[in-house]
Amino acid sequence: MSFPVTRATFDEVMVPNYSPAGFVPVRGAGSRLWDQQGREFIDFGGGIAVNGLGHCHPELVAALTEQAGKLWHVSNGLTNEPALRLAKTLVDNTFAERVFFCNSGAEANEACFKLARKYAADHYGPQKNVIVSTRNSFHGRTLFTVSVGGQPKYVEGFLPAPSGIRHCTFNDIDSLKEAMGDDVAAIVLEPVQGEGGVLPATRAFLKAARELADQFNALLVFDEVQTGVGRTGALYAYMEYGVTPDLLSSAKALGGGFPIGAMLATARAAASFVVGTHGSTYGGNPLATAVGLRAVEVINTPAVLGGVRAKGQRFIDGLNAINAEYKVFREVRGMGLLLGAVLAEEYAGRAKDFVKAAEKQGLMVLVAGTNVVRFAPSLVIPEQDIDEGLARFKAAVASIAAK
Ligand SMILES: *Cc1c(COP(=O)(O)O)cnc(C)c1O
Repeated sequence: MSFPVTRATFDEVMVPNYSPAGFVPVRGAGSRLWDQQGREFIDFGGGIAVNGLGHCHPELVAALTEQAGKLWHVSNGLTNEPALRLAKTLVDNTFAERVFFCNSGAEANEACFKLARKYAADHYGPQKNVIVSTRNSFHGRTLFTVSVGGQPKYVEGFLPAPSGIRHCTFNDIDSLKEAMGDDVAAIVLEPVQGEGGVLPATRAFLKAARELADQFNALLVFDEVQTGVGRTGALYAYMEYGVTPDLLSSAKALGGGFPIGAMLATARAAASFVVGTHGSTYGGNPLATAVGLRAVEVINTPAVLGGVRAKGQRFIDGLNAINAEYKVFREVRGMGLLLGAVLAEEYAGRAKDFVKAAEKQGLMVLVAGTNVVRFAPSLVIPEQDIDEGLARFKAAVASIAAK
C-alpha cells in the first residue's frame, strides 16, 4: 500500500545515523534526478561512486527485468548462470583467477582480510596475522573493517576493536617499511584514498608495497571498492598504476546501484578458503550478478573508459576556471571521474557548506571529509550535463565566496 511520506518521516522512523538532504528524490534518468516536488538536480555524486552508468541506464534496467522474470535467488548449495558469467568476465579481464561474491564493499574487504589471515596461517602459522593499513583509509563499517580503516572516529564507542592491525602513513614508504615484519599477513591499500580526501597513491608507494609484501610473504590487497569498475579510466585502478595485487575488493559501481560486492583473488590465495570457511547467503545472487555483468560489459569498453579520462579533464578544467575567479580551492586532485577539490585555508572545514550551496542551485556534490568537495558522477555523463552542472557549481561557489 502507498501512503504519503516526507523528509520529516525520516526523523520519526529511521535510526538517526544519517542526516539526509532536505529533499526526497523519486526519479532518476542519466545524470539527472527529480524530487517529490518535481525539482530537477544534476547529479555529480553518483550515489557515492555507485551509479557508474547514471540512473536507470536502459541496459541495466533490461538486465534486471529480464533476470527478474527468470530466477531471483538460490542458496549457495547451488550455483547459477549470471554469477558464473560475471565471475568468468572478471577473471578474463583482470589478474584474478578466482572470485567470491558478497553484497557490499565492507563484506568484500572482510573476505579479503579473513582470507589473508587464513592464507598466512595455512602457509606460515597463526603468529603471522597482522594487517598493515594506512591511517585515514576507509574500508567499510563492520567492526573489523573500521578497525583496519585507521580513522579513530569510526571506532570510538565500539571498543574493544579486533587486534592484529597496524597503521602506517599513506604515500610514506619509510613508514610502511617500519610497519613490516614477519608477523604481517597483508598490506591493504586504496589506490586512491576516497573517503580520506580523494588522495591518489604515488606509483612509487604502490610499487614499494608490492615489493615489501613479497619480501615478507604477505599478500597485497587493493581496496578498489571506490576506484573500481571504470572510475579512474581503467577497469580497475591497479591497471593504471601497473602494480598488481593478490586480492582486490570491488563493490559500488560493480552493481551500478544494485547491491553487490566481490573479492578477486589469485588461485593460490583463494585455495585457503576451503568449503565451510566463509560464506554469504545472498553472495552471487542471480539478480545482482546479472546487473553486475551488464555493468562491466558496458563500462569495460575503450569508448566508455576513454570517455572517463576526457570527461575527468573537462571537470578539472572547469573547476580550475571557477577557482581562478574565486580562489576557494588549494588544489583539484584525483583520477578519472573521482575528483576532489581541496578547500583553501580560508574555507578549511567547510566542505559541507559547498554541498548545501550546490543543492540550492540544483546540483548534487559530495564531501570527502570536512575539507574536500568530491565529485563522482556517472562515467557516461554527457558533456552538456558536465557544463551545466559546473555552471550551477560556479553559482554555489559564488554564493559562499561572497560572504
Ligand atoms: C564505500 C567504500 C567501502 C565500503 O563499502 P560498503 O558497500 O559501504 O560496505 C569500502 N572501501 C572503500 C574504499 C569505499 O569507498
